[in-house]
Amino acid sequence: MASTSVAVLGTGIMGAGMARSLLREGLEVTVWNRSPEKAKPLGDDGARVAASAAEAVTGADVVVTMLFDIEPVLSVMADAVGSMRDGAVWMQASTVGVEGTRRVEAFAAEHGIDVLDAPVLGTKAPAENGKLVILASGPAALQERVQPALDAMSTRTQWVSGTLGDASKLKLAVNAWIGVMVNGTAQSVALARGLGLDAQQFLDAVSGQAVDSPYVQLKGKAMLEGDFTPSFELDGVVKDMNLIRDAMAEAGTDTTLADAIADRLAVASSAGHGEEDMSAVVHAYRT
Ligand code: NAP
Repeated sequence: MASTSVAVLGTGIMGAGMARSLLREGLEVTVWNRSPEKAKPLGDDGARVAASAAEAVTGADVVVTMLFDIEPVLSVMADAVGSMRDGAVWMQASTVGVEGTRRVEAFAAEHGIDVLDAPVLGTKAPAENGKLVILASGPAALQERVQPALDAMSTRTQWVSGTLGDASKLKLAVNAWIGVMVNGTAQSVALARGLGLDAQQFLDAVSGQAVDSPYVQLKGKAMLEGDFTPSFELDGVVKDMNLIRDAMAEAGTDTTLADAIADRLAVASSAGHGEEDMSAVVHAYRT
């Protein structure tokens, strides 16, 4: 059987890792990125590097979009859609929220293409290592066509429902939790330090307890060491908190906590930490 060919549009932190995972599993991969210097190195890993999104999707069985938010997703797809072959599936993996996914659905309907809503859980290292968890929603009939690509990029796919957009809803619930964990860690690190303690003692105290988590240790260590090399840029979390608050307004969920988290992220971003890892939000907890 011919190998599945995949076009990856957007080779930022996540898209580049996902492309490498697809290549490692023997899929044919073509990549395109707005800034070509981020796509070029993938040529050394065996990807075909396209000069345009339209060129990238030509002949692909699966088209993955992994772009910052809904505006680039729709503008890049507007350039590419006319070159997609019949039967190709668009796997929309960027985090675009509830309203964004409605716009994805409308775009696909307008252009008569098949689309799956497939946001991902996991960050830079899981993307590079094929260890993402993919949340998927949309027509079950598309599953077989995308499964080789999903399997190459993830340890598992959670099929949320047959209703396009349900996976993106779940993604927001997960990211709301991530926002709480990172900010909770930052708050305790700042409090321990402010009270004159070595904040490592906070991480040691919770270590192995029910209140511990690998994420608290990972992000806490980054805060302690001041190593804010991005796995997920803080400005990406600012974007997601806005998507989350929009969804909360629609759902009738209280936004008090989400508002406070968004406020601390905005403070850290205005202080120049937007392109650092989200753990740099710790700067916003010092008065
Ligand atoms: P990133 O490294 O900042 O990459 C963003 C990508 O979007 C780049 O390819 C960028 O192109 C492209 N882009 C932005 N604006 C564009 C425009 N106007 N036209 C064309 N391309 C544009 O971000 P990332 O961390 O890979 O995240 C990508 C998506 O995955 C986001 O929706 C994010 O929320 C989601 N996500 C991220 C993580 C994570 O931990 N990093 C985890 C799960 C989901 P240039 O290189 O030219 O700027």
